[in-house]
Amino acid sequence: MSKIRTIVVSGGTHGNERTGVRLIKKWQDHPEIYTGLCPGIEIQTVLANESAVRLNRRYDFQDLNRSFSTTSLAIEGENLCYEINRARELNAKFGPKGKDTKTDLLIDVHNTTANMGLCLILSERDSFCMRASALLTREFPTAKIYYQPEERGMSPYFGTIAKADLCLEIGPQCHGTLNAALFEETERLVIRYLELVKLWNEGELQKLPGTTVDVYTQYKDIDYPRDAKGDICAMIHPDLRGKDYEPLKTGDKLYRTFDGKDILFDGKDVGADTVWPIFIDEAAYYEKKISMSLTLKTTEVW
Ligand SMILES: [Zn+2]
Repeated sequence: MSKIRTIVVSGGTHGNERTGVRLIKKWQDHPEIYTGLCPGIEIQTVLANESAVRLNRRYDFQDLNRSFSTTSLAIEGENLCYEINRARELNAKFGPKGKDTKTDLLIDVHNTTANMGLCLILSERDSFCMRASALLTREFPTAKIYYQPEERGMSPYFGTIAKADLCLEIGPQCHGTLNAALFEETERLVIRYLELVKLWNEGELQKLPGTTVDVYTQYKDIDYPRDAKGDICAMIHPDLRGKDYEPLKTGDKLYRTFDGKDILFDGKDVGADTVWPIFIDEAAYYEKKISMSLTLKTTEVW
């Protein structure tokens, strides 16, 4: 990306992920916190799923953060559900999705119940996002880069209505609750991104020496083992709980059945002998039939 002129910071895309909700409410009450950080740049804040925020639930009728594909945005008709309409409103205000979008950078703040620290999710290898995120992994001890390549048009995520986006997944935190330490760290993180936008626009960030960083790239989502009725028949193995970003190799313990048997990881099942799981046991992914997302790790310089 060349220069960044317009930024949207959003929270409450999932209504029960309260770090982003409170951050946006705080910044809407106190815009002086961020207005001086990037002179000449328009920064807007938005609570994305207001209905779900009031309910303190992930969504009201359907997942807003799965409602921004080009196809979904083009759905016609009356009596569409709240999230379909809200996605259109947000797309009209901050998009429209595609090359003519009004928004250069969208920073969307989420929470995860998984032990992922500050997970910086990039859907493209945008040069600003990669370079800034790499630098921030040095400043924030739990920050990691997760690269989730997306075909932008078909991607259903809110951030993809902007030219570039960062999705911040902050955890571990129970949905519907707050954690003061994580809130404060998240606020510092978003402020640092905005400060780095200023450096980027001045050409200074580009001059800094590159940062060596681990990049965790999306590989495959896997489901819990299920019985003939479709019910899960095992839990995350106690040895694997909380071990997000750590290598998982053939023979390592993966699940524990309800009658106490261990189920081991077999790399042949997924086509890679070693993987690095994240979103382990994420509460919101039970309905999506995902027990964890497997990634592959590379070390890069950005
Ligand atoms: Zn979320």
